[in-house]
Amino acid sequence: MIYFIGAGPGDVELITVKGQRLLKQADVVIFAGSLVWDKHLQICKKDCLKFDSASMTLEEVMDTIKQHQSEKTIIVRLHTGDPTLYSAIREQIGILDKLNLQYEIIPGVSSFTASCAAINREFTVPAVSQTVIITRIEGRTPVPEDEDLELLAAHKCSMAIFLSVQEIDRVIEKLKRGYQRGDVPVAVVYKASWPDQKIIKGTLNTIAEKVKTEKIDRFAQILVGDFIEGDFERSQLYHPEFSHGYRKGNS
Ligand code: SAH
Repeated sequence: MIYFIGAGPGDVELITVKGQRLLKQADVVIFAGSLVWDKHLQICKKDCLKFDSASMTLEEVMDTIKQHQSEKTIIVRLHTGDPTLYSAIREQIGILDKLNLQYEIIPGVSSFTASCAAINREFTVPAVSQTVIITRIEGRTPVPEDEDLELLAAHKCSMAIFLSVQEIDRVIEKLKRGYQRGDVPVAVVYKASWPDQKIIKGTLNTIAEKVKTEKIDRFAQILVGDFIEGDFERSQLYHPEFSHGYRKGNS
């Protein structure tokens, strides 16, 4: 069996119980070495074969899987954060489907939620935003035109921007045009949940300079929106006057 497992954002305790159990049992682990921590691999069996996919092509990854797969072997493909976001698993799955090989995807804590937790905030707050846009700026990987950052920012909701901090000037330019304000709060979270995590806060007007001063050009989330600073309304969920399936309100 082949398992695609989300390792979480960095902290070794932020993998799921299921992911950790399978990692402990694995005979072969192919891990995304650029972002998955050594500590994750220390829990593997002594005789577990480990391959770092950072220097491998898709073909090499798939050959390694084909070579080792059997009814008895547990193969783990360890991805950073949650494997359903920016993990390039779709093409791996496509090949496994063609080969009729069984696999399962075990979700993980994505860096975008870990980053929001790191700044002690909630993306969705009443009267501010009830929507989160997860996106990136185009680079060597294209982004469909309809998903241009400026168009997305025009929704003026909460945003989590992956894979883009190296292009902070271009990102900010597009966001300003979209939000049509320069004072929108921004938090850049570098290496959320790692010991060297850094949080930089500012606004669309100020953040680019701060990011450059701190020399952050990778491994960061750009969180944007009024959920970071400013007023909000309390949620109905725990309001004394609000009734729902589990509680009767007093009005
Ligand atoms: N599947 C991963 C994303 C992989 S793409 C997830 O769910 O998080 C790699 C990008 O994710 C990085 O460029 C960065 O934008 C973001 N990222 C990954 N780990 C991070 C972390 N610990 N802190 C902040 N951003 C992170």
